[in-house]
Amino acid sequence: MAKIFIDPGHGAHDPGAVGKKSKEKDNVLKVGLRLKALLEAAGHTVKMSRSTDVFIPLSERARVANSWGADYFVSLHNNSAVSSASGFETFIHTHTQSKTAGFQAAIHKAIASKIGIHDRGRKRANYAVLRETRMPAVLIEYAFISNLEDEAILINKVEQLAQWTAEGITAYVGGTVKPAAKPTPPKKEAIPLAEQKNAAPSASLAPEVALAKEAGITDGTYLHRTATREEVAAMNYRVYKKLEAEINQLKK
Ligand SMILES: [Zn+2]
Repeated sequence: MAKIFIDPGHGAHDPGAVGKKSKEKDNVLKVGLRLKALLEAAGHTVKMSRSTDVFIPLSERARVANSWGADYFVSLHNNSAVSSASGFETFIHTHTQSKTAGFQAAIHKAIASKIGIHDRGRKRANYAVLRETRMPAVLIEYAFISNLEDEAILINKVEQLAQWTAEGITAYVGGTVKPAAKPTPPKKEAIPLAEQKNAAPSASLAPEVALAKEAGITDGTYLHRTATREEVAAMNYRVYKKLEAEINQLKK
Protein backbone atom coordinates (compact mmCIF):
# COMPACT_ATOMS: atom_id res chain seq x y z
CA MET A 1 0.00 0.00 0.00
CA ALA A 2 1.07 3.60 -0.50
CA LYS A 3 2.62 6.29 1.68
CA ILE A 4 0.35 9.30 1.34
CA PHE A 5 1.21 12.75 2.63
CA ILE A 6 -1.79 14.96 3.50
CA ASP A 7 -1.13 18.69 3.70
CA PRO A 8 -3.89 20.85 5.22
CA GLY A 9 -2.93 24.39 4.15
CA HIS A 10 -2.02 27.32 6.41
CA GLY A 11 -2.31 27.24 10.24
CA ALA A 12 -1.91 29.31 13.40
CA HIS A 13 -1.20 33.01 12.57
CA ASP A 14 -1.82 32.23 8.88
CA PRO A 15 -5.59 31.60 8.66
CA GLY A 16 -5.52 31.29 4.87
CA ALA A 17 -8.69 32.69 3.29
CA VAL A 18 -11.32 33.90 5.74
CA GLY A 19 -15.06 33.56 5.12
CA LYS A 20 -18.10 34.94 6.89
CA LYS A 21 -18.35 31.95 9.22
CA SER A 22 -15.10 30.03 8.96
CA LYS A 23 -11.38 30.11 8.27
CA GLU A 24 -9.60 28.09 5.60
CA LYS A 25 -7.02 26.72 8.08
CA ASP A 26 -9.81 25.16 10.22
CA ASN A 27 -11.92 23.82 7.34
CA VAL A 28 -9.03 22.04 5.65
CA LEU A 29 -7.67 20.60 8.91
CA LYS A 30 -11.03 18.97 9.65
CA VAL A 31 -11.15 17.41 6.19
CA GLY A 32 -7.49 16.36 6.46
CA LEU A 33 -8.00 14.52 9.74
CA ARG A 34 -10.99 12.60 8.38
CA LEU A 35 -9.16 11.91 5.13
CA LYS A 36 -6.27 10.42 7.10
CA ALA A 37 -8.64 8.07 8.95
CA LEU A 38 -10.35 6.95 5.73
CA LEU A 39 -7.07 6.29 3.91
CA GLU A 40 -5.63 4.38 6.86
CA ALA A 41 -8.81 2.28 7.01
CA ALA A 42 -8.22 1.57 3.31
CA GLY A 43 -4.77 0.21 4.20
CA HIS A 44 -2.49 3.15 3.41
CA THR A 45 0.14 4.83 5.54
CA VAL A 46 -0.57 8.51 6.09
CA LYS A 47 1.51 11.38 7.38
CA MET A 48 0.20 14.92 7.80
CA SER A 49 2.10 18.20 7.51
CA ARG A 50 0.07 19.32 10.52
CA SER A 51 -2.69 17.72 12.61
CA THR A 52 -3.25 20.75 14.85
CA ASP A 53 -3.46 24.52 14.43
CA VAL A 54 0.24 25.20 13.91
CA PHE A 55 2.19 27.11 11.27
CA ILE A 56 4.50 25.14 8.96
CA PRO A 57 6.36 27.01 6.17
CA LEU A 58 5.64 25.79 2.62
CA SER A 59 9.18 24.53 1.95
CA GLU A 60 9.14 22.63 5.25
CA ARG A 61 5.96 20.81 4.19
CA ALA A 62 7.62 19.69 0.95
CA ARG A 63 10.87 18.82 2.74
CA VAL A 64 9.11 16.58 5.29
CA ALA A 65 7.17 14.77 2.54
CA ASN A 66 10.39 14.23 0.57
CA SER A 67 12.41 12.93 3.51
CA TRP A 68 9.57 10.66 4.65
CA GLY A 69 9.59 9.18 1.15
CA ALA A 70 5.94 9.85 0.41
CA ASP A 71 4.54 8.20 -2.72
CA TYR A 72 1.84 10.85 -3.12
CA PHE A 73 1.23 14.36 -1.82
CA VAL A 74 -2.21 16.00 -1.47
CA SER A 75 -2.59 19.60 -0.35
CA LEU A 76 -5.99 20.81 0.90
CA HIS A 77 -7.19 24.40 0.43
CA ASN A 78 -10.21 26.70 0.20
CA ASN A 79 -10.42 29.25 -2.60
CA SER A 80 -11.18 32.94 -2.23
CA ALA A 81 -12.12 35.77 -4.59
CA VAL A 82 -15.10 38.09 -5.13
CA SER A 83 -18.30 36.86 -3.43
CA SER A 84 -19.84 35.70 -6.72
CA ALA A 85 -16.95 33.34 -7.54
CA SER A 86 -17.83 29.67 -6.97
CA GLY A 87 -16.65 26.20 -7.84
CA PHE A 88 -14.14 23.41 -7.44
CA GLU A 89 -10.67 23.06 -9.01
CA THR A 90 -7.42 21.13 -8.63
CA PHE A 91 -3.79 21.98 -9.43
CA ILE A 92 -0.62 20.18 -10.36
CA HIS A 93 2.73 21.80 -11.08
CA THR A 94 3.23 23.64 -14.36
CA HIS A 95 5.89 21.17 -15.50
CA THR A 96 5.13 17.68 -14.32
CA GLN A 97 4.99 14.05 -15.41
CA SER A 98 1.96 12.26 -16.82
CA LYS A 99 1.71 10.15 -13.65
CA THR A 100 0.89 13.30 -11.71
CA ALA A 101 -1.75 14.27 -14.28
CA GLY A 102 -3.36 10.85 -13.86
CA PHE A 103 -3.39 11.24 -10.09
CA GLN A 104 -4.98 14.68 -10.46
CA ALA A 105 -7.60 13.35 -12.90
CA ALA A 106 -8.67 10.61 -10.48
CA ILE A 107 -9.05 12.97 -7.52
CA HIS A 108 -10.68 15.66 -9.63
CA LYS A 109 -13.27 13.32 -11.11
CA ALA A 110 -14.27 11.84 -7.76
CA ILE A 111 -14.90 15.23 -6.17
CA ALA A 112 -16.28 17.15 -9.19
CA SER A 113 -18.93 14.49 -9.80
CA LYS A 114 -20.32 14.83 -6.27
CA ILE A 115 -19.65 18.28 -4.87
CA GLY A 116 -22.54 19.95 -6.73
CA ILE A 117 -20.82 23.21 -7.69
CA HIS A 118 -19.23 24.48 -10.91
CA ASP A 119 -16.25 22.42 -12.13
CA ARG A 120 -13.55 25.02 -12.84
CA GLY A 121 -11.29 22.36 -14.24
CA ARG A 122 -7.92 20.68 -13.80
CA LYS A 123 -5.26 23.37 -13.70
CA ARG A 124 -1.52 23.86 -13.43
CA ALA A 125 0.40 26.39 -11.35
CA ASN A 126 3.85 27.04 -9.97
CA TYR A 127 2.91 26.57 -6.29
CA ALA A 128 5.77 25.87 -3.87
CA VAL A 129 4.42 22.60 -2.45
CA LEU A 130 3.84 21.28 -5.98
CA ARG A 131 7.24 22.50 -7.21
CA GLU A 132 9.35 21.30 -4.30
CA THR A 133 7.84 17.87 -3.72
CA ARG A 134 9.45 14.93 -5.51
CA MET A 135 6.33 12.73 -5.81
CA PRO A 136 3.01 13.17 -7.67
CA ALA A 137 1.44 16.16 -5.92
CA VAL A 138 -2.07 17.59 -6.24
CA LEU A 139 -3.46 20.72 -4.64
CA ILE A 140 -7.24 20.79 -4.10
CA GLU A 141 -9.27 24.01 -3.92
CA TYR A 142 -12.56 22.54 -2.70
CA ALA A 143 -14.73 25.65 -2.98
CA PHE A 144 -14.77 29.41 -2.39
CA ILE A 145 -14.87 30.41 1.25
CA SER A 146 -15.71 33.92 0.00
CA ASN A 147 -19.03 32.67 -1.43
CA LEU A 148 -21.82 31.92 1.06
CA GLU A 149 -23.15 28.77 -0.63
CA ASP A 150 -19.66 27.41 -1.24
CA GLU A 151 -18.70 28.15 2.35
CA ALA A 152 -21.72 26.15 3.57
CA ILE A 153 -20.24 23.11 1.78
CA LEU A 154 -16.83 23.70 3.35
CA ILE A 155 -18.39 23.89 6.82
CA ASN A 156 -21.17 21.30 6.63
CA LYS A 157 -19.78 18.63 4.30
CA VAL A 158 -16.47 17.83 5.97
CA GLU A 159 -17.19 14.09 6.05
CA GLN A 160 -18.30 14.01 2.41
CA LEU A 161 -15.32 16.04 1.20
CA ALA A 162 -12.97 13.64 2.98
CA GLN A 163 -14.89 10.65 1.60
CA TRP A 164 -14.83 11.86 -2.03
CA THR A 165 -11.15 12.82 -1.78
CA ALA A 166 -10.31 9.39 -0.37
CA GLU A 167 -12.30 7.73 -3.16
CA GLY A 168 -10.37 9.73 -5.77
CA ILE A 169 -7.00 8.89 -4.22
CA THR A 170 -7.76 5.17 -3.92
CA ALA A 171 -9.14 5.05 -7.46
CA TYR A 172 -5.60 5.84 -8.58
CA VAL A 173 -3.46 4.42 -5.77
CA GLY A 174 -5.51 1.35 -4.85
CA GLY A 175 -7.43 0.26 -1.79
CA THR A 176 -11.11 0.54 -0.95
CA VAL A 177 -12.69 3.32 1.05
CA LYS A 178 -15.43 2.14 3.36
CA PRO A 179 -18.50 4.36 3.35
CA ALA A 180 -18.21 6.82 6.19
CA ALA A 181 -20.32 6.18 9.24
CA LYS A 182 -23.42 8.33 9.33
CA PRO A 183 -22.52 11.57 11.05
CA THR A 184 -24.05 11.56 14.50
CA PRO A 185 -26.65 14.28 15.03
CA PRO A 186 -25.57 16.94 17.49
CA LYS A 187 -26.48 15.93 21.01
CA LYS A 188 -29.06 18.00 22.85
CA GLU A 189 -27.59 19.80 25.82
CA ALA A 190 -28.24 17.55 28.77
CA ILE A 191 -30.00 19.43 31.56
CA PRO A 192 -28.71 18.35 34.96
CA LEU A 193 -31.21 16.11 36.78
CA ALA A 194 -31.44 18.45 39.78
CA GLU A 195 -32.38 21.31 37.47
CA GLN A 196 -35.02 19.20 35.72
CA LYS A 197 -36.50 18.23 39.06
CA ASN A 198 -36.96 21.79 40.23
CA ALA A 199 -37.97 23.34 36.90
CA ALA A 200 -40.79 25.89 37.08
CA PRO A 201 -43.95 25.36 35.01
CA SER A 202 -44.39 27.35 31.79
CA ALA A 203 -46.26 30.59 32.48
CA SER A 204 -49.26 29.59 30.35
CA LEU A 205 -49.67 26.22 32.14
CA ALA A 206 -48.84 27.30 35.68
CA PRO A 207 -52.50 27.34 36.93
CA GLU A 208 -53.13 23.80 35.64
CA VAL A 209 -49.91 22.52 37.18
CA ALA A 210 -50.75 24.18 40.49
CA LEU A 211 -54.21 22.56 40.48
CA ALA A 212 -52.83 19.11 39.58
CA LYS A 213 -50.29 19.47 42.36
CA GLU A 214 -52.95 20.48 44.85
CA ALA A 215 -55.13 17.53 43.79
CA GLY A 216 -52.20 15.15 44.26
CA ILE A 217 -52.14 14.12 40.57
CA THR A 218 -48.51 15.16 40.21
CA ASP A 219 -45.88 16.15 42.74
CA GLY A 220 -44.81 18.97 40.42
CA THR A 221 -41.26 17.76 39.87
CA TYR A 222 -39.58 16.96 36.50
CA LEU A 223 -42.17 19.09 34.68
CA HIS A 224 -40.16 19.41 31.48
CA ARG A 225 -38.92 15.85 31.29
CA THR A 226 -40.61 13.33 28.98
CA ALA A 227 -43.16 11.27 30.92
CA THR A 228 -43.00 7.47 30.84
CA ARG A 229 -46.17 5.44 30.16
CA GLU A 230 -45.99 4.33 33.76
CA GLU A 231 -46.11 7.91 34.98
CA VAL A 232 -49.00 8.75 32.63
CA ALA A 233 -50.91 5.71 33.91
CA ALA A 234 -50.28 6.75 37.51
CA MET A 235 -51.54 10.25 36.85
CA ASN A 236 -54.64 8.93 35.06
CA TYR A 237 -55.29 6.60 37.98
CA ARG A 238 -55.14 9.50 40.43
CA VAL A 239 -57.59 11.53 38.32
CA TYR A 240 -59.88 8.49 38.13
CA LYS A 241 -59.76 7.92 41.90
CA LYS A 242 -60.48 11.59 42.51
CA LEU A 243 -63.52 11.59 40.22
CA GLU A 244 -64.73 8.33 41.71
CA ALA A 245 -64.59 9.86 45.18
CA GLU A 246 -66.46 12.96 44.00
CA ILE A 247 -69.20 10.85 42.39
CA ASN A 248 -69.58 8.67 45.46
CA GLN A 249 -69.91 11.85 47.51
CA LEU A 250 -72.73 13.08 45.23
CA LYS A 251 -74.58 9.73 45.47
CA LYS A 252 -74.86 10.01 49.22
ZN1 LIG B 1 -4.92 28.12 0.84
